[in-house]
Amino acid sequence: MYCLVINSGSSSIKFQIVDPASAATDEPLASGLVEQIGEPSGAITVTINGEKSREELEIADHTVGLKRAFELLDANGVGPTQLEFFAVGHRVVHGGKLFSEPVLIDAQIESMIEDLIPLAPLHNPANLDGIRVAREILPDLPHVAVFDTAFFNHMPPAAALYAINNEVASEHDIRRYGFHGTSHEFVSQQVPKVLGRDPEHTRQITLHLGNGASAAAVHNGRAMDTSMGLTPLAGLVMGTRTGDIDPGIIFHLAREAKMSVDEIDTLLNKKSGVKGLAGVNDFRALREMIEQDNSDAWLAYNIYIHQLRRFIGAYMIILGRVDAISFTAGVGENDVEVRADALADLELYGIKIDPERNAQRSSDPRVISTDDSTVKVLVVPTNEELAIAQKAAVLTQA
Ligand code: ADP
Repeated sequence: MYCLVINSGSSSIKFQIVDPASAATDEPLASGLVEQIGEPSGAITVTINGEKSREELEIADHTVGLKRAFELLDANGVGPTQLEFFAVGHRVVHGGKLFSEPVLIDAQIESMIEDLIPLAPLHNPANLDGIRVAREILPDLPHVAVFDTAFFNHMPPAAALYAINNEVASEHDIRRYGFHGTSHEFVSQQVPKVLGRDPEHTRQITLHLGNGASAAAVHNGRAMDTSMGLTPLAGLVMGTRTGDIDPGIIFHLAREAKMSVDEIDTLLNKKSGVKGLAGVNDFRALREMIEQDNSDAWLAYNIYIHQLRRFIGAYMIILGRVDAISFTAGVGENDVEVRADALADLELYGIKIDPERNAQRSSDPRVISTDDSTVKVLVVPTNEELAIAQKAAVLTQA
């Protein structure tokens, strides 16, 4: 039994066909990407059994793209007419205060997701496009929405609320929602399994370091704090986002640089972070520049690591005791130096990375701390699609 997992963006749709019983590191049965929707230069890439095929065509809208992708899957024997899918799982970025669990989508749920658009003006409309089109094409299947914010919905109020005027906050639903929740939850559930520990008594920090990056403090399987906020702009330094900055900078730019709200939004979300400091947002490119001793790249890297350590330190104190710290996503899973530097010189706090274990390449979840490190350090590959398929399976009792 397979789940079709859809992650719909404004001009792209990513999809995977996933067996919820597979291991975190197994390849999906098929995966694909519909890109440049609405542009003349569209393309659909489908990978089946590791074999990639690409078709270039103009894709007018999400309906055209998804229909063509299903035809390509069908032509290879893994499409909706040949395979029996038990559900379609949809990644939805913002669930606001409304959703702390995955839900079966009906017209009312669609309109609730629509109501949340002001909180995620870029993401929720695109997610909704994918939901509407997929429900139209596959009306007989259950469709499940899995929210990026859900894992953080029940954080303690002291972590979830800002010290901002409470009337304004409640009128505009201003609070820390957090994002990457499906990944933090998935990784934090793997950690006790890898360590053979009782999840009920595991206190951990999960570090999702991809192009977007966030940290979470987790105790007894529940989120206690996280670095992203009302939007994914807050917290750690990211590929193109600032992470935490003094909000006064925004007023300063508006008053002194006469920048508009949209210009500041673009500056902080798309032209800052590692890219704004060093000109590249991909960590492989940053690493090459560092190897050539480029001073901008060094500075970007040092700011990135400094901010990461700031959050790790804060979460160690918030949790009171830490059993495990885990790294995940593109940078966290692959960049040996980021892991080493993020936790360097913390022996006094019981944190000791084993350089050899850290340098080993593997796609399996693994411990990279020394045997005598009281805090276990792990690399745990994330798999949000598998997590969505598993949640859809639980909800639909497949
Ligand atoms: P997202 O889902 O946030 O787009 P990913 O988790 O796929 O991101 O991470 C993408 C980032 O991971 C890339 O921008 C790149 O910086 C980094 N990355 C991927 N592979 C490597 C690698 N081998 N070494 C260092 N960084 C890597």
